Amino acid sequence: MPPKFQTVLLFGAPGAGKGTQGKILAEVPGFYHLSCGEVFRTLDMSSELGRTFMQFSSKGLLVPDDLTVKMWYQNMQARTVLADFKPNADLLVLDGIPRSVKQARLLSKHLDVLQVIHLVCPNKEEMISRLRRRALKENRIDDAQEEVIRKRWQVYECETYPVLGCYPKSMIREVNATGSPARVLEQILGHLVPVQEAHFHNPVTGEPVRKAVKATRATAAKDQKAAHRTTSKTGRKPVRSGR
Ligand code: ADP
Repeated sequence: MPPKFQTVLLFGAPGAGKGTQGKILAEVPGFYHLSCGEVFRTLDMSSELGRTFMQFSSKGLLVPDDLTVKMWYQNMQARTVLADFKPNADLLVLDGIPRSVKQARLLSKHLDVLQVIHLVCPNKEEMISRLRRRALKENRIDDAQEEVIRKRWQVYECETYPVLGCYPKSMIREVNATGSPARVLEQILGHLVPVQEAHFHNPVTGEPVRKAVKATRATAAKDQKAAHRTTSKTGRKPVRSGR
């Protein structure tokens, strides 16, 4: 059995901003973002799988679970073989999968879920108008009709929301999805940076981050002690660097 992917899930209702945040995170070294919906949209729409996707997504419905997880895993394997995704170096940020309790179960043999970021939308109507705007901008046929948007929300509430129950509460971090993208990102990074540091080396220097952070803290503590000694000798306050 190949080792499991170290993963965090971006979770939330349609329009919560998972894709927007995922795309930003993908630019940060050591984070690897994959949106299940994007993978489906890149399929050849004249292939059998492409047609199945269109058949379900145009109605606001989920593609069947077994098919989705199989397609997702084949895609991940291809990315791994091409060394686009490096399981030993990259924290996988999954967006749009799992979307049902059955998918969560099927995925558990491939994923080591370290954290779930739940983008919380207190105002459903605001999310729905976000979807309408996006449909016009990005030519998304699944969001072009009010009826389909509402169906997608209904599917989220009935089939996807219960996925949260598959993970321990201590693993779930709630983030308010209604702020500006920068504000939402700030909160997400606040949760994800420690996860990355605990499980991976610094993707740029290759150093184990935990050790590096500890070393920095130890140096800072030494500097502080030295500064304290100076103060007690001279009676002058030490000059603080940084914030
Ligand atoms: P959004 O991010 O707006 O919620 P996505 O782009 O993730 O939407 O998904 C678009 C459509 O693709 C979904 O409505 C569904 O038909 C299909 N889809 C995407 N991910 C999954 C999944 N994990 N399981 C089943 N269907 C999916």
